[in-house]
Amino acid sequence: MTPTVSFEFFPPKDIAGSFRLWDTLGVLQPFDPAFVSVTYGAGGTTRDLTHQAVTAIGGATGIPVAAHLTCVDATRDETLAIAESYAEAGVRDIVALRGDMPEGAPFEAHPDGFASSVELVEALAATGRHRIRVGAYPERHPDAAHAQADVEFLARKFDAGAHSAITQFFFEAETFLRFRDRCAAAGIDAPIVPGILPVASWSGVSKFAANCGAQIPQTVADGFANAKGATERDLFALAIAAELCDELLSEGVEHLHLYTMNRPDLSRDLLTALGLQPRQPLRDVA
Ligand code: FAD
Repeated sequence: MTPTVSFEFFPPKDIAGSFRLWDTLGVLQPFDPAFVSVTYGAGGTTRDLTHQAVTAIGGATGIPVAAHLTCVDATRDETLAIAESYAEAGVRDIVALRGDMPEGAPFEAHPDGFASSVELVEALAATGRHRIRVGAYPERHPDAAHAQADVEFLARKFDAGAHSAITQFFFEAETFLRFRDRCAAAGIDAPIVPGILPVASWSGVSKFAANCGAQIPQTVADGFANAKGATERDLFALAIAAELCDELLSEGVEHLHLYTMNRPDLSRDLLTALGLQPRQPLRDVA
C-alpha cells in the first residue's frame, strides 16, 4: 500500500521566510499531502503569524491545513476565540497541545487558561467545530511521571475527543513500534502517526532531543560527528531517515508526518528514496 504523507511547517517571521515557506510548499505539494500543519511558536509567540500562514496556505492551495494551538499564556476564552476564528475561515483541523513555557521554565497554566492538553481537547470537542489531533510521546516526555504515563495521558486525550495523534520525533523504528503496541494494549485504537524529522541541523536537533527526551543512538551521533561537510551531513540525514521510514512502512505504518523545518530538499529526497510517486513533476529548490 502506498503511504500517505503530511508536512509540518513553521510560520515565517519575515519576507525571506515567507518565500522559503512558499518554496517548500511548492516543492512538496506534488506528493499530494493528506494535510499540512503550521506550528505555534513557544509561549504563543507566533499567534498571528500562524493564523496568517494557515489561512494563506489553505486559501492558495486547497490542501487541508491543521493549525497548532497551545494553552500557554492565554485565557480559555482567548484560546477558544482563536479556534473559532479558524473554523470561520474554513480551517477545521487543530493540533491541540499544552505547549511549553518560554526558556524551558516548568509549565504554569494561565490563571484563566487551560491547565492541560486534556482540558483544551475537551473544550474544543464540546464546540463540535474541529477535528482534533494531539501530540504523542513514544519516549518519556520530561513531564511524565513514568514511562507508561504518556500512554495513559494519550488515552485521556482520546477520551476527551481527539481523533488522531502525531508523535514526537524519534530515531529508531523500535521506539515507535513498542509505543504503538503499548497504546494498543491500553485500548487505544485511534490513528497514531509517526513524526519523522529529516535532520537539517544536527547541532539544533541534538540540543532539542536532549530537552524533549528523544534518545540519540550512538551510531547517529557518530555519523553526524564524522560527516565532514554539509553535503555529507545531508546524505547521512537522508540515509537514516530513509532506513527509519522503510522499517516503519514494512511494519504496517500507513502515514508519515514529516517535520520539514521549512527545508524542502531533505523531505523531497526522502520521499523519492522511499519510492513515493509525485502526482505532478517535481520542482527544484529555488
Ligand atoms: P501533553 O500530552 O499534554 O503532556 C506531555 C506529557 O506530560 C503527558 O503525556 C503526561 O505524561 C505529562 N503531563 C502533562 N500534563 C499532565 C497533567 N496535567 N497530569 C499528568 N501528566 C501530565 N509546542 C509548541 O509550543 N508549538 C507547537 O506548534 C508544537 N507542536 C507540536 C507538535 C507535535 C506533533 C508534538 C508532539 C509536540 C509539539 N509541541 C509544540 C511541543 C509540545 O507543546 C510540548 O511537548 C509540551 O511539553 C507538551 O504538550 P502536549 O500537549 O503534546 O503534551
